[in-house]
Order: sequence, then C-alpha cells, then structure tokens
Amino acid sequence: MKSRTKVVVIGGGIAGCSTLYHLTREGWTDVVLVERNELTSGTTWHSAAQVTNFGTSQTMIGLKSHSIRLYKELSEDPEFPINYHHGDGGIRLANTEAQMQGYRHFSSMARGMDVHFEVIDAEECARRHPLISTGDLLGGLWDPLDGDIDPAQLCQALVRRARKAGAEVYRNTPVTGLSQHRDDTWTVHTDQGDLDCDIVVNACGYRVNEVGAMMGVQHPVASMEHQYFLTDEIPQIKEAGYRMPLIRCPISDFYCRQEKNGLLVGFYEQACKTWGMDGIDPNFVNALCPDDLDRVMDVLEGAFERLPALREVGVHTVINGPITYTIDGLPLVGPIPGKRNAYCIIGLRAGLGEGGGHGWLLAQQIVHGEACYDTWVLDPRRFTGHANVELTALKAVEDYQNEFRFHFPNEHRSAGRLAKTTVLTPILAAQGAAFTTVNGWERVDYIKPDPAFQLTLGFDFDEAHSVVAAEVRNVQENVGLCEVNGFNRIEITGRDRHRFLDRLICGFVSKREGRLGLGYLLNHFGMIKSEATVANLPASDRGPERVWYGSAAASEYHDRDWLEQHVEPGEDVQIQSLTEAQTILVLAGPNARKVLSSCARGDWSAKAFPWLSVRECFVGFAPATVVGVSFSGELAYEIHVPNTSLYAAYLALQDAGRPFGMQLFGARAVESMRLEKGFLHWKADLLTEFDPFETGLDRFVNLEKEIFIGKDALLGRAVRVRAKGLVTLEIDATRGPAPSGASLMCDSRVVGTITSGAWGHRVQKNLAFAFVDPEFSAIGSSMQLNLCGEPVSARVIAPCPYDPDHSRIRG
Ligand SMILES: Cc1cc2nc3c(=O)[nH]c(=O)nc-3n(C[C@H](O)[C@H](O)[C@H](O)COP(=O)(O)OP(=O)(O)OC[C@H]3O[C@@H](n4cnc5c(N)ncnc54)[C@H](O)[C@@H]3O)c2cc1C
Repeated sequence: MKSRTKVVVIGGGIAGCSTLYHLTREGWTDVVLVERNELTSGTTWHSAAQVTNFGTSQTMIGLKSHSIRLYKELSEDPEFPINYHHGDGGIRLANTEAQMQGYRHFSSMARGMDVHFEVIDAEECARRHPLISTGDLLGGLWDPLDGDIDPAQLCQALVRRARKAGAEVYRNTPVTGLSQHRDDTWTVHTDQGDLDCDIVVNACGYRVNEVGAMMGVQHPVASMEHQYFLTDEIPQIKEAGYRMPLIRCPISDFYCRQEKNGLLVGFYEQACKTWGMDGIDPNFVNALCPDDLDRVMDVLEGAFERLPALREVGVHTVINGPITYTIDGLPLVGPIPGKRNAYCIIGLRAGLGEGGGHGWLLAQQIVHGEACYDTWVLDPRRFTGHANVELTALKAVEDYQNEFRFHFPNEHRSAGRLAKTTVLTPILAAQGAAFTTVNGWERVDYIKPDPAFQLTLGFDFDEAHSVVAAEVRNVQENVGLCEVNGFNRIEITGRDRHRFLDRLICGFVSKREGRLGLGYLLNHFGMIKSEATVANLPASDRGPERVWYGSAAASEYHDRDWLEQHVEPGEDVQIQSLTEAQTILVLAGPNARKVLSSCARGDWSAKAFPWLSVRECFVGFAPATVVGVSFSGELAYEIHVPNTSLYAAYLALQDAGRPFGMQLFGARAVESMRLEKGFLHWKADLLTEFDPFETGLDRFVNLEKEIFIGKDALLGRAVRVRAKGLVTLEIDATRGPAPSGASLMCDSRVVGTITSGAWGHRVQKNLAFAFVDPEFSAIGSSMQLNLCGEPVSARVIAPCPYDPDHSRIRG
C-alpha cells in the first residue's frame, strides 16, 4: 500500500468504483480506492440493477443518460465485455389523468436532454408487454433505453479501467479513522496502515455514518429493507422470443423485469421497515436481511392482478437487502458541508442505474470545482441543521411508500413536518395558513379561505389560484404582511469585510453605511454561484460596523462554505450566521409606509429612507432592522427581528395594520409577483450552467473591477458566445403554469427550457422565465411550449412586465 496519494475513495460499491474511474477520466490518476471487504460486498452485489433514463429534473436525466452511454460502451469492450441488457424498454404505468399529465411533462423535460420518451395508452402498454392486464390502466411512459446490468461485472469493469489508468485498489482494508491536518489534507487510517491524501470521498453505502463519525459528521441517510423475488421460468416469456420490457407500477408499488426466462419482481410495501438504525453488525458483509414476504402481501396482490402469470409460477429466491434513502429521495453527491477537501457520494437508492452518472458529476466537482450540470438537486448542502438521521428515517419511510409516485407541483408531503418553526407558526396556522417548506422551515404558502380547503394535485392551476389572486390584489392596493423565516443572513465583521466581498462579487455594491445593494457571486468559470443582498450597518449598541449578507434560505450551508473558504490568511474578516436567530416580517403595499410609521419611530419618508436603505429601529418595543427592498414590486420593507422578539414585533405590526385592513400573504403570491417583476430565484433561474450575461444580469457585472472570482473566465471568452439567454415569456394558455424543465420547441427542435412559471395576477398574463437559444431571445420571438404534452404558443416579452421603472417600489 502506498503512503500518499491525491484522493482516497472509501467504499468499493458502484458509488466508489464509478468515482474512482471518473477521477482517472478527468485526468487524476494518482488515486486510491479502499474497501473493507471485497468489491461490491455492500448493497451492490444483490441489486436488481435496473438502469433507466427517467428523472424529474434535467440534471437527473442527464446523469442517467451518461450511465447508459457508459454502460453500453463497457458492455461492448472486447477485452472485458459485461452483461448489460440495454434497450429492453420500460413502462411506468398510470391509472390517473394527473399521472399521465406528469409523464407528458417529464417527457417534455427529457427532450431537452436529448432523451426520447413516449407516452402510450393502456392497449399499447399491453402490446409492448403481453403479460400485463389493462384493468384500471390509463397508460404509461415508455423509456426505450431501459434495461438491467450485472452489478459485479460493472464494478469490475470500472475498476479495471481505473487501474489501467494508474489508480490503485486496496481490498480487505477497512478504514478505521480519519485525521485532518492544519493544511486541510487528510490521513486515512486503515487496519493495513495509514494513507495520506489531499481529498477523501465517503462512498460507504449503508455504513456511511460509521465513516461520517470519523470526521464528526452525521449524514442525513437512513436505510430501508427492500425485497424482490425471482420466479421460475414463465412459458409465455420463453415463447415470446424477445425480452420483456421493465415495469414500474405506482398503482400497486412494484417493479418487474425479466431474469432468465422468469421475472424479478420487487416491492415497495406500506408496512416498510428501516434498517440499521441502532448500529450495523460489523460482520454484515455480502449479507442479506431475513426474507419477510408477509410484509409485502398488500402490494403482492396488486402485482398478481397486473401480471396474472405470476399466480401460476413458483418463486425460487427471495432477496431482502438494505437500501439507502435521504430526506428528499435524491442522493448526496458533492462537498460535505462544513468540511474542506471532503466529498460524499451516498444515499443512493437507485445507485446501479445512476451510479455511473453520479461518479461522473462528482469527479468533475473534485477535479474542476464544478460539474457540467448544475448539481444543486444532489448537493449535500441542501440539507442543514434539521437534517438528522431520525428525520431522515421518517422521510425515508414516506418516500419508500411512494417510490414511483412523483411529487406534483405544490405537493408538500406530511412526514417530518415542523422541523423548523418560529413562534408564529401556530399563530399563522390558526389564521388559516397552508404551509410549504423551504430548507426545513415551515413557510406560509397562502391563507386558506376555510379550514376544509384542499387542493387537487396536478399540473393545472389549482383551487388556490383565486385565493392567491386576492392576496396579490391586497398587496397591490393596500398592504400585506408575510413571514419569511430561514432567510439566509450572514453577519460579516472585520476591517477587511468590504475588500473580501469585493473579491467575491462580480459587480459594484455600495459600501456606504445605511445602504445596500444586490450582488452576484461567480465560480471560477464565471458562472453564477450565488446571489446576495449586501447591507452595510453602522456601528451601534447592537454591534460594530458590519455587513449583512442575505441570500436564499436554501443556500445557508452552500453560501457559508463558499464565504468561509475564500477568507485569505491574515484577512480581518469574521463570519457569523444569524439565519436561525432572526426572522423577517415583510410589509408590502402602498400603505406599508403608513403602517411602519405608526409602529416604529423615525422618519420613513422616501427621502429619509429611500429604496435600498437599511436602518436599526424598534417595532413597538421589539428591536428590528428594516431593509428597504422588495421582491413583490410594491413599496416594501423587510423587517428583521431577533426570534426572541418576533411575537412582540408581529403584534405591533398587526395593531398598526388593523386600521388599514392589512392581510397576510404567502409564498405563492410572492412567486406570482416576482415573475411580474423579472426577479430571479436562486437554483430555479440562477444556475451554474450560465454566466451573468446569459442570465441577463449584465448590469450587475463590472469588468473594470481589478479583481473578482470568475473575472478571468469571463474575459477569457474574448468573443463572448452566449449559449443561451434568459427571457421572459408570455404563455398562451390559461389551464396551468409552464412547469420548470418543460421544453420550448420550434419545428420539433428544442430551443429552450422553462426555469420558472406562474400566473401574473397584476398583469393578467401566464408568465415564465426560460433559457432559450440566442436566435429566440429577441422580444417578439415566438416558439411552442410543450405544456404537459399540449403545444401552446410562447412569446418573448420585455423583462419586468409590471411597473418596469420600479416607481411603485420607490413609493
Ligand atoms: C434489493 C435491492 C434492489 C435494488 N435494485 C436496484 C435497481 O434495480 N436499480 C438501481 O439502480 N438500484 C437498485 N438498488 C439500489 C442499489 O443497489 C444501491 O443504490 C447501490 O448498490 C448502492 O451502492 P453504494 O456503492 O452506494 O453502496 P454499497 O454497495 O453498499 O457499497 C459501499 C461499500 O463501502 C464499503 N465500506 C463501508 N465501510 C467501509 C470502511 N470503513 N472502509 C472501507 N470500506 C467500507 C462496503 O464494504 C461496501 O462495499 C437496489 C437495492 C436493493 C437492496
């Protein structure tokens, strides 16, 4: 065993083997994989190993397509061919129109990644899979490239290629400890000796938290027991003379694929079970959990109905093994929060199909600092302080029970709710609030008109449409109040705070005390990393001169890590998170100034406190910091209050607002209003795949600045080629909003992708943002939106269709 290497990948399942191989492909060959037993002796060896293209975001579809391309290439390698049933085809079934609509949407989304699905009716499903019955079936989604692969051969093939490139693999080498040094390098302790390295990667499957604990981290990953069985030969399969397509059934929660001349049938039962919560036997190696077919009886019946041939055939093998889940069902692939030079590729619940793609995106991040797709949907930093293993287990059970039922827009499932609340949560609930969640925080979505009010899940405008319209009207004509909890607020103090931020932000941001500005942070490729409001607070009895850096709630760990990692040695900069300590009450509408003036001393006139000002004050007697910004496009104040005083501030504002008939409003009203104003949302419209020019943020870039991260890359593109441009669209449809990820077409060519869509209640237009090909970005350009299968026309309009000169914000 060598004593030093660049990267140590811990774990030799599909996650580790794929990462190792892709590191060599990206050019790093001095890399090592250590495995406690034999390769694939965790979950990988007994996987059903189905490989599909289906995903609910373009990043997921893209990475799965990479797996399929790679696996095909490996299977055709004359030196080491592996068994891969590529292109058997697969059908995701549906028995409701809403599911069919979803499949049409995901099919539209996949087109943008050059993946071609087909939505077919029940008869066509049965024609393609002659063993299924069509009772209560509406149809399904056909993936022509679906298939399955031999998991052990796949890992061997990846490792073989990695070794050929120079990588080394140490089997029977358990990692027993990890030490990080002052220069952020690591020593990996194993029972075969120590190994120094720059970077460690945790790819330990269900043992993720044993290795996590070695670096003081608890990853939000929990394991579930999962079962499938293998049948004896089924004569119809043998007679068919071709391989049966795969089936995934959200009606009865099972999947099935051909195995030899029989079937492999797997189940997602309601009475499902977590596994390993109290620790894992160190001798659980190449092992299975005891069979428990009684547990799957509920779904077995449904599988028999759908596949009557199953009633006639014997079962010769049952496999029950642990499978890892996270809080939202997607893996954690990327940097480990709060750590340097440490990455993970964990929580893979469909790791055989996805593993090729995950290893590819992770290796790009390790080697280059960023991947070719925006990887936020996989980023381990998307979960923050609330994300413990107990909460994960609750969400894992819920996810397992709904394995093939995708989330509809505006669907907020019930497990693990109330993870992050404020003192106002029950008070707002008593006033009828329906909640959404953002980074675990319960946020008001809208106010229900009556306690029994319920939404129909689907892709069309739902029952809340008119409720949101009324909330917007009240903000436009009068004044509204909205709690925004969990907003990411980082306090930056120290002599060098402005110099530090200047290096991170690509444009000019005011340094004047009492003023604030909006800035964009780029990565080293000049692509959008983050968006922040930067407010300069003067010294006061509440603290020294300081900057308040504010960004999206979801960015809490992401932005904290980026800021902390860019403080230079010797720089006088201190960074402290206030995210959990403060909550914002947003007061918005033409009467907002009057309400504020009647509960907070001081001159709040436009002259004394213009737009983009910040001031400390008291609301009633509650200490508050008022920031003059608006996401709604109306005159608005963000009132930041320490959580200990939040209720007092809320009561003072309610008292002041009563004479004006002030009403509550929620996130859905804000979403409508921000599209009307052309305001972008982090990780919906602001993505690492686009630079600020493509995103239409030219006015926020100052190439005259001496230095900022990403400047060289922006300048390096001497003749700037805009691959895409962000535009505002008016959609010619009243049925539903343009869903994120939907494709825009011209003559059956994909010319753009929707990033956000909502009805603009003030302009009475169906609005969307989209990245489109440059030739479609001019105002007036038209194209077709594939709106859940229905072609509707979409036209580029001027950005900010509501009050474009911001006169209402200035009040
Ligand atoms: C019954 C079943 C059916 C499935 N069917 C499918 C399917 O059809 N399609 C699909 O895509 N996915 C499927 N999956 C899921 C898929 O198999 C997993 O997502 C995948 O195998 C996980 O791979 P991994 O590399 O993350 O974990 P593992 O395969 O568990 O690998 C982790 C490795 O880390 C090693 N390790 C742990 N601790 C240490 C240590 N301290 N030092 C060194 N090494 C260590 C372990 O020994 C192990 O080899 C299925 C899973 C199950 C259980």
